[in-house]
Amino acid sequence: MKHDPLELVVQDIAEEMAQALDRGRVADYIPDLASVSSDHFGIAIVDMEGRSFVAGDAQMQFSVQSITKVFALTMALGAVGDGLWKRVGREPSGSAFNSIVQLEWEQGIPRNPFINAGAIVVSDILLASHEPSAVIAEFLRFMRMLTGDDTIVIDEQVARSECETGNRNVALASYMRAFGNIHHPVEKTLGVYFNQCSLSMNCHQLALAGRFLMAGGINPDTGLSVVTPGRARRILALMMTCGHYDGSGEFAFRVGLPGKSGVGGGILAIVPHVASIAVWSPGLNERGNSQLGTLALERLVQRTGWSVFEPN
Ligand code: GLN
Repeated sequence: MKHDPLELVVQDIAEEMAQALDRGRVADYIPDLASVSSDHFGIAIVDMEGRSFVAGDAQMQFSVQSITKVFALTMALGAVGDGLWKRVGREPSGSAFNSIVQLEWEQGIPRNPFINAGAIVVSDILLASHEPSAVIAEFLRFMRMLTGDDTIVIDEQVARSECETGNRNVALASYMRAFGNIHHPVEKTLGVYFNQCSLSMNCHQLALAGRFLMAGGINPDTGLSVVTPGRARRILALMMTCGHYDGSGEFAFRVGLPGKSGVGGGILAIVPHVASIAVWSPGLNERGNSQLGTLALERLVQRTGWSVFEPN
């Protein structure tokens, strides 16, 4: 089947999203997120040939939040290898991103690395007796390397707010520490986690950062391996099964691509060996995933035929 050119598809989607009435609700647990207008929508696609297709607010910075869990996991796997899986599970949680109940049933082992509890263990692994500031500097270097863009920063105001309002994350970390699954003082581990969540990027930068997952683990800028092809596949499998919390099944059903959402309204979605896609719209659905971001990806796969369940 012949498909429309991507520059037209992203323009059409941005225009359609600008008209949408049901835009979801912007996260309001910190003022920095609550003050962002739900009118925004941005989309960026980077393909295997290195072309970029952008529309809407694709150059506007937003809080990357839980999408950073993909990159932190990649770094932690690089540091400790598959031993990581002794401390974090690989099952969809079926519950909210900040849920605590399953930790009691499962002896402090979080269900997967993409819910908060799992990501906090990943932060603890990255900490490995370093200072949080050194780990965050390393994380920022990693993100700059993946995008080829040295302007990427952490929003320190967001990081401070995360820290001031993060009681639930403190509870998750303390509870896991009681089971021996957090190895550092909770403040240090969360120092990494809160700063990591506060990464600020735009859609184009985020799509660039996702390229190694599109390209079988290779950074297209350098030709160097970020992860092995097998590890890239496994990270994508986790995104597919766990990337949208208790909305992961619905996302797989509607979009059919591995994706990871963040409470800032971003979603990173990957078409293996074809494209890395980032969408952003701050209004969230009842599961805490971008309302229009999901709709836009659904439109995109209808227009392009992209799916991990069909050859492209
Ligand atoms: N910083 C947020 C939190 O820990 C991230 C959650 C998210 O993006 N879903 O609550």
